[in-house]
Amino acid sequence: MKRTIVVTGSTSGIGLAIATAFAGKGDNVVINGFGKAEEIKAITERLESLSEGRALYHPADMTKPAEIADLIETAAKTFGTVDVLVNNAGIQHVEKIEDFPIDKWDQIIAINLSSSFHTMRAAIPHMKAKKHGRIINIASAHGLVASPFKSAYVAAKHGILGLTKTAALELAESGVTVNAICPGYVLTPLVEKQIPDTARARGMTEEQVKTEVILKAQPTHEFVKAEEIGALALYLASDDARQVTGTHISIDGGWTAA
Ligand code: NAD
Repeated sequence: MKRTIVVTGSTSGIGLAIATAFAGKGDNVVINGFGKAEEIKAITERLESLSEGRALYHPADMTKPAEIADLIETAAKTFGTVDVLVNNAGIQHVEKIEDFPIDKWDQIIAINLSSSFHTMRAAIPHMKAKKHGRIINIASAHGLVASPFKSAYVAAKHGILGLTKTAALELAESGVTVNAICPGYVLTPLVEKQIPDTARARGMTEEQVKTEVILKAQPTHEFVKAEEIGALALYLASDDARQVTGTHISIDGGWTAA
């Protein structure tokens, strides 16, 4: 049966791969995030070409609670409910704590953590009414372990795991599961852009930057593919995963085993 999937931050990278995975299953997908109008139009057209369902774009800024509530209400009004909510939008800023800009701290906590509270607050009543739902929070290996100079990101990603567990307990008897996915490094446009600059700065080849700098923490020394996270999200949304709740699944090439 056709489901309705909301994926925050899905105009790029992991969110787009997750939306694509669900569209490939014939679901309605509601995408969100920043981007040029023509790029977003091309994305929605491509998603609709994959799916028997529809693709709808909503421009909610994940720092704005009223816009986030409108994203969920628009999805529910258009398609009747929200079956799967994927909280994916996220940004990064790298700086030592004493120099970390206060507005960047606030922005990262808002986008990477609080936005998931706001989407869940709006979506849970629809899921409870249907006695069925799936909430998937895209955390990170940085939800489990820290790296220096990423204080806001690490704090937000640890926080999202706490929110995941709390919501799972509250919803345990409602047919709604709540889980987190903890990816290691994924070669999204954001990460890709850093490689040539780092190669120049360190006098390395781009391949060396990937394996010796970026993937140093990841024992496989290979990037996780965004599509692999899409496949994991499909599993967590499936009926087979109905007893999987309140937990996280790592997909990090062994990073957090070390
Ligand atoms: P990306 O930069 O490719 O995509 C981020 C998406 O979020 C974009 O669609 C962007 O428009 C959107 N976004 C940013 N600010 C927003 C805002 N205020 N309101 C609405 N949308 C906003 O990044 P990505 O690598 O695909 O990251 C997606 C998620 O995966 C993030 O939560 C990130 O922390 C997590 N993650 C990424 C990696 C990685 O290595 N790339 C690893 C672990 C976890």
